[in-house]
Amino acid sequence: ASQNRPFHVFLFPFMAHGHMIPVSDMAKLLAAQGVKTTIITTPLNAPIFSKATRSRKTNSGGIEIEIKSWNSFFKAAGLLQEPLERLLLEYQPTCLVADMFFSWATDAAAKFGIPRLIFHGTSFFSLAASDCVKRYEPFKNTSSDSEPFVIPNFPGEIKMTRAQVPDFVKYNIENDLTPLIEQAKEAEVRSYGIVVNSFYELEPVYADYFRKVLGRKAWHIGPLSPCNRDNEEKAYIGKEASIDEHECLKWLDSKKPNSVVYVCFGSVAKFNNSQLKEIAIGLEASGVEFIWVVRKGKDDCDMGKEDWLPEGFEEMMEGKGLIIRGWAPQVLILDHVAVGGFVTHCGWNSTLEGIAAGLPLVTWPVSAEQFYNEKLVTQVLKIGVGVGAQKWWIKVVGDIVKREAIEKAVTRIMVGEEAEEMRSRAKGLAKQARRAIEKGGSSHSDLNALIEELSSQR
Ligand code: UDP
Repeated sequence: ASQNRPFHVFLFPFMAHGHMIPVSDMAKLLAAQGVKTTIITTPLNAPIFSKATRSRKTNSGGIEIEIKSWNSFFKAAGLLQEPLERLLLEYQPTCLVADMFFSWATDAAAKFGIPRLIFHGTSFFSLAASDCVKRYEPFKNTSSDSEPFVIPNFPGEIKMTRAQVPDFVKYNIENDLTPLIEQAKEAEVRSYGIVVNSFYELEPVYADYFRKVLGRKAWHIGPLSPCNRDNEEKAYIGKEASIDEHECLKWLDSKKPNSVVYVCFGSVAKFNNSQLKEIAIGLEASGVEFIWVVRKGKDDCDMGKEDWLPEGFEEMMEGKGLIIRGWAPQVLILDHVAVGGFVTHCGWNSTLEGIAAGLPLVTWPVSAEQFYNEKLVTQVLKIGVGVGAQKWWIKVVGDIVKREAIEKAVTRIMVGEEAEEMRSRAKGLAKQARRAIEKGGSSHSDLNALIEELSSQR
């Protein structure tokens, strides 16, 4: 009987934009291959996906939740195990692709003999580098937070500092997330395999290392974002864009090619007022035209009050700089010819979107695996320069990055010979990214290999 059932994939993303966006792209990719695909999520998050997968734009009255404690959020997410099991029993999908954070999904799927795959919204490089840092603990050989060490037994002589290693790895301390990450790692080892949003040509050494040396079964299917590239809804996945996309693209239309830098720190990171002010002054000092997306914490200030900007800043910058308060149509902006560089927090989606658009990057990691992604960009691909972010930031705390560093990094990726070299390398990668997802390309082939393997298992 099972042979008669259609090939059916359950996708179960974690409820954060950086996870839901690539999964909704993956759903489109699978559907284009003729695979029946169902996204499992909560009622509050469902409109996000219906918006993304429908061609009509809708207005949602969604509320934004400020997550105060990830621990309680994960506990609440654990309550989804039972409803998920009911759905697995009822629909008997061919496989379940669940986010790494749902470690219990491996057991849930096993109960019904369904293979569980993990969706990893990050690079092979960061998966493998974090594994080596945790395993060999090189940060224990230094007493300095800022003296770089080389990641041992890892290709490429990659340097990082102790300050950039997450606290829960460094101090073996029990923080909110420690047990969760341990469980996720353990469930990963027991899972059927890993789906990675990357392409082979971007990081061949690390894709091989992850598979052959660390012995993980993985398929690369990215970059996922171009699934929506020709499709203006992309701008609306996740949230309504807070600016009319035509307005901001029209603004860009009036600019010279490669003249504008796009500055955005993803969907989670928030800076305090002094950091925002430094960014403003640094951007102005660089003389480079910019689009800057600002997200602010609800508790630190009232968005209506603009005391985080130097006085008269926006008037002075009129025509030269556009500030978007809230959500921007990022992929459309990055793809515009006028955009010539990207200041990013190195979330993997943003990093890959920047690469797929052929842009040099200023790397400004804030948390999670972003410091590893930074090393890939600056030390391996050599398409970006770091702004010098050192702290492992979970919240709006820590040392601020000074205006001079911001000005310098922006100038380095936007003007001069070094900028041209980085841009030309980035353009080469963008070309390879496009090829990877075409028929016969490495990601396209890997996705089909995965579908075939799972079909033959049934
Ligand atoms: N994004 C967007 N507009 C914004 C901010 C973010 O479209 O104003 C999208 C961005 O294109 C990316 C995702 O949100 O696809 C952010 O994911 P990423 O992994 O870069 O970072 P996270 O938000 O998870 O820190």
